[in-house]
Amino acid sequence: LVARMRPFGTTIFAEMSALAVRTGAVNLGQGFPDTDGPPEMLAAAAEALRTGQNQYPPGPGIPALRAAVAAHQRRFWGLEYDPDGEIVVTAGATEAVAAAILGLCEPGDEVVCFEPYYDSYAASIALAGAVRRPVTLRPAADGRYAFDPAALRAAFGPRTRLVLLNSPHNPTGKVFTPAELALIAELCREHGAYAVTDEVYEHLVFTDAASGHLPLATLPGMRERTLRISSAGKTFSCTGWKVGWVSGPAALVSAVLRVKQFLTFVNAAPLQPAVAVALALPDDYFADFRAGMQARRDQLVAGLAEAGFQVLAPEGTYFVTADVTALGGRDGVEFCRSLPERCGVVAVPTQVFYDDAEAGRRLVRFAFCKRPEVLTEAVTRLRGLP
Ligand code: PMP
Ligand code: GLN
Repeated sequence: LVARMRPFGTTIFAEMSALAVRTGAVNLGQGFPDTDGPPEMLAAAAEALRTGQNQYPPGPGIPALRAAVAAHQRRFWGLEYDPDGEIVVTAGATEAVAAAILGLCEPGDEVVCFEPYYDSYAASIALAGAVRRPVTLRPAADGRYAFDPAALRAAFGPRTRLVLLNSPHNPTGKVFTPAELALIAELCREHGAYAVTDEVYEHLVFTDAASGHLPLATLPGMRERTLRISSAGKTFSCTGWKVGWVSGPAALVSAVLRVKQFLTFVNAAPLQPAVAVALALPDDYFADFRAGMQARRDQLVAGLAEAGFQVLAPEGTYFVTADVTALGGRDGVEFCRSLPERCGVVAVPTQVFYDDAEAGRRLVRFAFCKRPEVLTEAVTRLRGLP
């Protein structure tokens, strides 16, 4: 194995899902829903399979999906992208992030990101031979995660190529505020840096959040320097389909396509028309999806608090983090490894998403994208923690 990949073991998601299968625990670790997405989308996929849409689709994605991606971004965020040249379909957001970094970063270039970071970010940065410059998110007095603006400013320098931003943020559930986004944008402009934004949870900002979802590309001077990434997996509860997309100015999108050609070439022919159908669903679908997830958040947040966790209630995503200190936990990794045996529940330690392990030492993440009865069972088990 090459040196640059040696620090990366098995992903925590695979490890914890395997542990859940082995122990029969309730799996609130890896984030995937336990119900299917919209029936119209599933029917369209079945129809595409039956009607022979099973060969290589066009490199940038089928025209119907690129048109649907453009219309969706116009409808929800007022962003205009040309489906011909400014949008490319990828194998999930994961491939989009990897291809963006590989297409934009020379070895030694620096990527500013926020930790805890989604695990594929560090690996993609390493594959490119680039260097990550993490800025730490820490729980603040108001129960929200925040970063030190001076630390963000200090992370930018002459080698900064891009900032990789995930908002709403996995694993913390943080929704970056307009003021925080304005600072990120200012620093990008000042340093001539690009932005790559991972917005897979764009439709999961809860109604009581301090601010709604605001794509960084909507800020002054940012559209021309931002690659905006999303995916069908979260919004349409089809994480196994791996259909994502990237939007941005043609020069940046063509850099992504250049790389994507040789990673996967193309992907998901019969699923692409189905995702196009889903993206065109009426506003009600998106509102109901969010409301359903918000009710589950409320259920799990209350249950975890009753079980004795110090909960950091999220404003977005389908994850909640909690501090395990009050339950006698000193280390999230140890806590999560023993939790299935102690009470039959699986969670994910967020420490593994930090370079500064100390900052995340006592934090664990639970996914609430599960049926209410599953959450009830998990809470019952957690309340029985010895
Ligand atoms: N980014 C974030 C922040 C995620 O939470 C996930 C998924 N779980 C992904 C990217 C990957 O998305 P996809 O499955 O579309 O590759
Ligand atoms: N994004 C999901 C999570 O954070 C799962 C990702 C994965 O399994 N790679 O749990």
